Amino acid sequence: MGEFELIRHYFAAAACARAGGDVVLGIGDDCALLAVPAGEQLVISTDTLVAGVHFPDPCDPCLLGQRALAVSTSDLAAMGATPIGFTLALSLPLAEPGWLEAFARGLDIMAAACDMRLIGGDTTRGPLSMTLTVFGRVPAGQALLRSGARVGDLLCVGGTVGDAAGALPLVLGEREGASAEASALLDRYWSPQPQLALGQALRGKATAALDISDGLLADCGHIAAASSVRLAIEQARVPLSDALVRWAGRERALQCGLAGGDDYVLAFALPREELPGLLADGWPIRVIGRIEAGEGVRLLDADGKDVPIDRQGYNHFNA
Ligand code: ADP
Ligand code: MG
Repeated sequence: MGEFELIRHYFAAAACARAGGDVVLGIGDDCALLAVPAGEQLVISTDTLVAGVHFPDPCDPCLLGQRALAVSTSDLAAMGATPIGFTLALSLPLAEPGWLEAFARGLDIMAAACDMRLIGGDTTRGPLSMTLTVFGRVPAGQALLRSGARVGDLLCVGGTVGDAAGALPLVLGEREGASAEASALLDRYWSPQPQLALGQALRGKATAALDISDGLLADCGHIAAASSVRLAIEQARVPLSDALVRWAGRERALQCGLAGGDDYVLAFALPREELPGLLADGWPIRVIGRIEAGEGVRLLDADGKDVPIDRQGYNHFNA
């Protein structure tokens, strides 16, 4: 199968490749054309996933397609953007029809969930890797940056953290499990749900935001640095799923929640007066701490005492 036939059959023909919305022209020409409404800004992010580095090889190609698009689209959620579309630069060792069909199906599933469209890409032979570039739009000046957090704001997250890290031993085949807990965690790892609607609801309200990809502590450190403030996290308020606590035990679950990445839940700073309205609207917001004067991130126990942490993450567990 030639390069053009492959592109035509698996990507141009995919449901997610249909033009529409802000996509004026999709796959097939030298470039795609996007219509950005007047008064809005284009929001762009790119991510590369390499086999054996960012995902195990081999793995289920349908799940890989879902995860690749979710991971990239989550950056749009973190900016409060409305998704438009994405490009896919794919490097493949060989054109295997079953693999390509399943991978494209995974892209389709996540694209439908995120209202994304495949607008172009590049296809080359080489070790398995993929670069997805996502495009979105936001009303001018309303993108959620990492840099606006203010002393006195609440520190919030958009849901439970740690599930994807809890799933890692299963993903890597170091641990077996067929329980309901194991499959719930695996689902969080392979099919994270970018919090696009929450991000959009936070426009004009949150003062800083990002999506948690490296771990709660590390990513809060990014907000602290960009905003020149200190983020105080109350350990007891870090939301952990029942599945994770049952699967890993409370201590390990907390470690996953603090230091594990790959959850793609939003973390953000919110002025106190904004919280009641957002909760009344039903957003799954959990307050985990506050913004203080200072720098870096601190972790507090139930008595308000500092829990020691290191740069790599949580380092408190009794060995
Ligand atoms: P060019 O020679 O201009 O780089 P290509 O032959 O690489 O064009 O691609 C032809 C068309 O197919 C372009 O519209 C390109 O965006 C699209 N395309 C190539 N690879 C992919 C892919 N993996 N997914 C989606 N679209 C693709
Ligand atoms: Mg090309």
